[in-house]
Amino acid sequence: SATAPEHMAVNGHFASHGQNGHANFQHGVQVIDEDKEFNTDIGQYLTYEDIARSGFNYHLVSVFGSQSTGKSTLLNALFGTSFNVMSETERRQTTKGIWMSKNKSQSSDMADNILVMDVEGTDGRERGEDQDFERKSSLFALATSEVLMVNIWEHQVGLYQGANMGLLKTVFEVNLQLFLKDKKTTSRSLIYFVIRDFLGTTPLQNLRNTLMQDLSKIWTSLSKPQGLENSSIDDYFDFAFTALPHKIYAPDKFEQAVKDMSKRFREGHRDPRRDALRSEFESGVFLPEYHRRIPADGLPHYAEGVWDQIVNNKDLDLPTQQELLAQFRCDEIMREAMIAFDETITPFESKQTNATALGQPEVIEGLGAAMLAARSKAVKDFETEASRYHKGVYQRKRTELESKTDTRLKALFAGQLTAAHKSGITKFSEAVSSAVKAGQKKGAYDFAEIVSEQKKIALRDYETQAKAVVLEGVSWSNYKQELSLYQKELDHVSGQLRRDEMRRLATRVERWVRSKLNDSVGLEFNAIGSGRGGSGAPEEGDRPSEKQIWDRIWKLFTETVKDAEKRFSDRALSFDASQDEIDVGQWRLRRKSWSALRAKIDEEMMEGNLLLKLRENFEDKFRYDEAGVPRIWKPTDDMDGLFQQARSSTLTLIPLLSKMRNSQTGSPPPLTDWIGNAPPSAAAADEEDLVPIGGVDEEEGKSLEEETTLLSEPKRQDLTVRFKKAAEGVFMEAKRSTVSGIQS
Ligand code: GDP
Ligand code: MG
Repeated sequence: SATAPEHMAVNGHFASHGQNGHANFQHGVQVIDEDKEFNTDIGQYLTYEDIARSGFNYHLVSVFGSQSTGKSTLLNALFGTSFNVMSETERRQTTKGIWMSKNKSQSSDMADNILVMDVEGTDGRERGEDQDFERKSSLFALATSEVLMVNIWEHQVGLYQGANMGLLKTVFEVNLQLFLKDKKTTSRSLIYFVIRDFLGTTPLQNLRNTLMQDLSKIWTSLSKPQGLENSSIDDYFDFAFTALPHKIYAPDKFEQAVKDMSKRFREGHRDPRRDALRSEFESGVFLPEYHRRIPADGLPHYAEGVWDQIVNNKDLDLPTQQELLAQFRCDEIMREAMIAFDETITPFESKQTNATALGQPEVIEGLGAAMLAARSKAVKDFETEASRYHKGVYQRKRTELESKTDTRLKALFAGQLTAAHKSGITKFSEAVSSAVKAGQKKGAYDFAEIVSEQKKIALRDYETQAKAVVLEGVSWSNYKQELSLYQKELDHVSGQLRRDEMRRLATRVERWVRSKLNDSVGLEFNAIGSGRGGSGAPEEGDRPSEKQIWDRIWKLFTETVKDAEKRFSDRALSFDASQDEIDVGQWRLRRKSWSALRAKIDEEMMEGNLLLKLRENFEDKFRYDEAGVPRIWKPTDDMDGLFQQARSSTLTLIPLLSKMRNSQTGSPPPLTDWIGNAPPSAAAADEEDLVPIGGVDEEEGKSLEEETTLLSEPKRQDLTVRFKKAAEGVFMEAKRSTVSGIQS
């Protein structure tokens, strides 16, 4: 139907050639025109006639002979073709160049896909003595055709000098020239004589003998190229003969003879026992060794290449032509195979590229199977068509195709593994963090267990995803190396997460230390306010001695930190921290604890706080007796003496508190040794949040002496002055209260 899509496409395709595309092929297709130009429509014609995809299952027959010997008429009768024939009245040459048509006969006795070439007759009036075209067209027909039909009038048989014999001489010469280049091929041709206007008076056998003798003479007379001097005509040609009655005078007999003749255009085989009579074909004329082994889809390109060589007077080298053809066609077939491959694979590639660009690596479901299918299909598509061509070229191009597909597939495969890797690592670290958070809310969690659990999940997920992209049975498609890289990265990330966990642990322990110190150091300073254990009085009962305040603080400090260090290491060991990591953590803990202690002491020693404590200390000593009972001042009391004593006792606290010193030795605490050297693996980055400690961090230029000095000299003096004033205030008030007591 005219509206069918294919039909439309065909029309559209040939629109440039005429109103109706099909009309162009009514008389077949012109292969070579009168200007010796090759027609590029042959491919379309073969597609149009459904031959292009038939591989080797087609045949090529050419017809030769003088002009106007009824060649076109014969072909039309034999094959139902529509080659132009000369009208009875005009007597003018009609066949120009070389035409080709498919056999249109419906006869089931004939082979499939016979292509017939009608070659322009020579010695025609129009072309005159155009030996050049004759030679070229002969060469072209020989290079392509299995059967060369030679049309000859019966009355010309035996006329050795006749035009047809000249033509045959050309054919033989040209053949020798071809085979000089192509000695390896066993390709032969059949020369099929059709004797026209056969009267029947001379038996065909006699005509045959005459022709064969003439052919031998021609062969002998040829100057043969070097290496082929002793070759025989039978090395290259088989011969067949058919005689046809006069078409006009004996139309019925002609028709019947043509009908019989047409049945011979079928597949044949050689009978070795009948070699001597091999021209008598009982089977068909198409013997396998006549076939030029050019696949139908390559025929247009091959024919064009051959014609190009011929027309430019280059040496025609058929093996080279076949190799060139193989390269051309294999490339074309490969492109086609790659188009189908692209249709499947490109969407996956874009999906992957987009996902990567968005930073959201995505695992594509069922990719492995899809890739494998696309790969197999591409190779199979290629193999089906291309394996018919030159084996060496085919193999090379097949390898090229495989490397093309595999380059793409490998990239896709690797991309998917990268996606699985990245998403797996992200998921893993997120899962661990959120499990830790949940554990923190609950108040207890086992970090090591969380990590090993999540690692198992991460590995299982990775393998599932990797398996999904594997091309079953393809050697490069394995993920062993990638898996081990993935495992390594999981370990690496686990290490980082563990260090984070260590940080959290350290923070918790530091907080604990700080709160402990706040309580215990606070109590020590409060004790000062109570004034008991004053420096003047000997140590009594369980009263702590003021003199030993730093001994006690250092002791409780180091004990607290020791306790904290143990808490830290116990916990860290539970999640597989290394001894090294624990060493660093403890070292940091000691430093931070010292800073916490200093901060607490500084807070206690803030001017206002300390003055208050000293005043309380003084009041306690001055207004209370040894038993802690408030004094009721009597005029006999030595108020001045008691005042002096209490004041000087409290004043001794100022130098005592100014510096942290051992009560026995008078030296600062062994801070440097206690903190110890930085473990080698304590990274510089880790230390950035650490406050420099005098005497420990030597490069800071602050000595241990300074580090343990809590009040500077000016501050001490200032404090002394202020305290004295405060003490005097208390004294004056006490005095006034005594006076008023007497008055009342
Ligand atoms: P071509 O140039 O060889 O292709 O010859 P054509 O097929 O065009 O025919 C040339 C002329 O020969 C036409 O006028 C035909 O009618 C005529 N013709 C065709 N067949 C025969 C035949 O069998 N015998 C004779 N004597 N003439 C024929
Ligand atoms: Mg003709």
